[in-house]
Amino acid sequence: MKIRFWGVRGSVSSAGPKTQQFGGSTSCIEVIEKNQRIILDAGTGLRALGLQMAKKESEEAVSIFITHCHLDHIIGLPFFRPLHHPKKNICLYGPINQKRSFQDIISSIFSPETFPVSFNDIPAKLTFKEMVRETVKVGPLSITSFPINHPGSTLGYVVSNGKKKVAYLPDHEPIDGHSHFQEKSKSFDEQYRAELKNILKGCDALIHDAFFTDAHYGKFHGWGHSPLSYPIQLAKDSGVRKLIYFHYAPEATDKELKKQRDWALKKIKKQKLSIDLIMSREELVLTL
Ligand SMILES: [Zn+2]
Ligand SMILES: [Zn+2]
Repeated sequence: MKIRFWGVRGSVSSAGPKTQQFGGSTSCIEVIEKNQRIILDAGTGLRALGLQMAKKESEEAVSIFITHCHLDHIIGLPFFRPLHHPKKNICLYGPINQKRSFQDIISSIFSPETFPVSFNDIPAKLTFKEMVRETVKVGPLSITSFPINHPGSTLGYVVSNGKKKVAYLPDHEPIDGHSHFQEKSKSFDEQYRAELKNILKGCDALIHDAFFTDAHYGKFHGWGHSPLSYPIQLAKDSGVRKLIYFHYAPEATDKELKKQRDWALKKIKKQKLSIDLIMSREELVLTL
């Protein structure tokens, strides 16, 4: 299984000289197994992936798994070249939202006031599938969804090729005292933690939110994101050996991100953890 990172930022894209080493595009990851591709999230990184797909391949079916409908995870869609091709079938998977359907939310970014091509005039054939806890098969890959702690309906995904498994939780906050679910109680938090640990157990890699440094997180409890120490702890508790951290704050410069990495590597060494810590960056390709 190959994993390619097309966008690793959170909230809003932040291209510029201070972010060019790790990249400024928002969440988008491509997972490839044999000739099958799936896409995780449709942030601004999706634009470059779409250009590559338009150049090289003629495949007609595209599967995109959206974790949630915050703009940084869907705003690449209007600029995704295959969407403007009449022969493409694009299936969008995403969460069930409380007040509006998944399709309704996505279609709203194609309103005439915000984008010149209206939703009904999109040339590709679009299909929408709402998920909570389920597994779908796309070629040799199976993708399992589960609700995670972040404002609004948000899914995490585990992608498996039958031999290797990778978990993807790009926007996620430790639940302790900061539940974004309707249920808010200690017993619910405990149940959530146990369920998450169970899901991650047996995964070979975890791609996880590290929007904040530990020093910054103190001021931003309840924003829906994690300090880097949290995915390290989660990987340790669940026995996941490879941690790829992701969804950097838009204002985090390359210099600051490297400082944060050095801090984390020291922490891992000091605690003698068997975790292979990998910083995500645009165009990083990993093979599991
Ligand atoms: Zn995000
Ligand atoms: Zn979000």
